[in-house]
Amino acid sequence: MMMTAAGTIKAARILVMGAGVAGLQAIATGRRLGGIVSATDVRAAAKEQVESLGATFITVDEAAARTAETTAGYAREMGEDYQRRQRERITEALKRTDIVICTALIPGRKAPVLLTSAMVAELAAGSVIVDLAVEAGGNVEGSRPEETVLTPNGVKIIGPVNMPSRIAADASQLYARNLLSFLALLVKDKELKIDTADEIIKATLLTENGAVVNPLLGSPAATEAAASN
Ligand code: NAD
Repeated sequence: MMMTAAGTIKAARILVMGAGVAGLQAIATGRRLGGIVSATDVRAAAKEQVESLGATFITVDEAAARTAETTAGYAREMGEDYQRRQRERITEALKRTDIVICTALIPGRKAPVLLTSAMVAELAAGSVIVDLAVEAGGNVEGSRPEETVLTPNGVKIIGPVNMPSRIAADASQLYARNLLSFLALLVKDKELKIDTADEIIKATLLTENGAVVNPLLGSPAATEAAASN
């Protein structure tokens, strides 16, 4: 927002779809830049986190949200009914939105389509959508990897890929820290020790004594069950 002698320029309205690691950063950055930010996510835990950053949370279905999170803290794929209601709620919000940042992902699956072409057509000319899920299939119909698409109604859809490489030094530092923490679990007194009682080691162990032990590499039914936990 800018107040000048020639009048007031209103603050941009920003909508963030998916409030995980990337979405919460987008909310904080949007707020620091003076935007009016709202966000939505399928996981119930996201509401409090969004609100603590000063943004408004758009709830689609409270009951569904309670079962939308896996034990690992990630989202499950939502059913048709939820998706229809989410599209209705978001279509309403889009009428008052200038910038949409999409970050919604489901581990091991194609990204959910959250904005259809009809919904994109609700945005005013000059609006911008950033589809950070473009590499996983995209949250936005019509987004293309590494391209900026201009829709017939003048909306720009940006599809950036490989974002970590654009912040290579910071990304490398965080990745190295992750690897170091992981190796610290495996090496005790300078020796490799595979402690299968450790939750992280158990989840990442693929084979043991010549046998496949990870359910993700087992039968299709076991794989499905493991993925939805
Ligand atoms: P992610 O990248 O898998 O997904 C991004 C967000 O999209 C998530 O918040 C997810 O709930 C949301 N989403 C999925 N489908 C959606 C839909 N249909 N509509 C709206 N939103 C949808 O997840 P993430 O950002 O890595 O993190 C998710 C959770 O896991 C967070 O609570 C995070 O703190 C936790 N976590 C992440 C890591 C990590 O390294 N990424 C590590 C530990 C814990």
